[in-house]
Amino acid sequence: MKFADLHLHTQFSDGTFTPEELAGHGARLGFAALALTDHDTVEGCARMAAACAAAGIEFIPGAELTAEYEHTELHILGYFLDTQNKTLLTEIARFQVVRQQRIHEMVALLNEVNVPLEVESVFALANCKSPGRPHVARALVKAGLVSNLDEAFERFLKKNRPAWVPKAKVSALEGIDLVHQAGGLAVMAHPGLNRTDEIIPALVDAGLDGIECFHTKHSTAASERYLVIAEKYHLLVTGGSDCHGFSKGKPLIGGIKLPYEHVEKLKAKVAERKPAAMNARE
Ligand code: AMP
Ligand code: ZN
Ligand code: FE
Ligand code: FE
Repeated sequence: MKFADLHLHTQFSDGTFTPEELAGHGARLGFAALALTDHDTVEGCARMAAACAAAGIEFIPGAELTAEYEHTELHILGYFLDTQNKTLLTEIARFQVVRQQRIHEMVALLNEVNVPLEVESVFALANCKSPGRPHVARALVKAGLVSNLDEAFERFLKKNRPAWVPKAKVSALEGIDLVHQAGGLAVMAHPGLNRTDEIIPALVDAGLDGIECFHTKHSTAASERYLVIAEKYHLLVTGGSDCHGFSKGKPLIGGIKLPYEHVEKLKAKVAERKPAAMNARE
């Protein structure tokens, strides 16, 4: 049976693998298709496309956008994005600037509570335009200021902890439009983590295309609940590991194997949109 992983991060955001390493793991594990969904960037897609092509894997260019709906944070996955789309690139560049600024703010807050982390040590690990809290956490571990990543988040980086700084967020409805105008499909990421069930109908009205039913942190019961919701609202079904690198000694990729039939359905929906978009332009 063919299978896919549609939620993956690389060093272009807060993952630890290069695109080539990630594609290599995908090939070793027998994946037919992979999507790259780095946070607020599509910069890694060109290298990931080349690495997947070399490994005989189908590649889907994507991104994971931080969004909010009535003060609830949620993540929107965009798939089959035109990675040259001007509006998309302009919009995500704004988020990247805030992410870079936020690193300085988080380090300043750590220093205020007498944690002597240097901002250079974070940027040495976060050699990308879209850095995030995991880079700060890794720098804290590397400097010996905490013993592991969990401790970094629990003591300092989680919401309501001393070094927590909010990110720039797109409104969920604008996020869906942003993905659509870049030719993509908009999917709600890991709904089981954000407790966002009650906002699903509003997002469906705004044109949400799919929902991530299968995710490393979804229980079997949660996945089943979202499959029922997908059916009820005629949403496409996606799934992925949300691999950021090694977890407990092995790569997280491989833990979720989305049956390929769901990729076929995604492709059918994109194909059915394309002629409509072309007609609209004529
Ligand atoms: P950010 O986008 O900068 O707010 O960082 C969010 C990322 O941090 C998520 O994508 C997770 O990869 C990671 N993360 C969040 N909470 C934890 C945690 N408790 N332990 C390790 N990583 C976490
Ligand atoms: Zn992440
Ligand atoms: Fe996420
Ligand atoms: Fe993710």
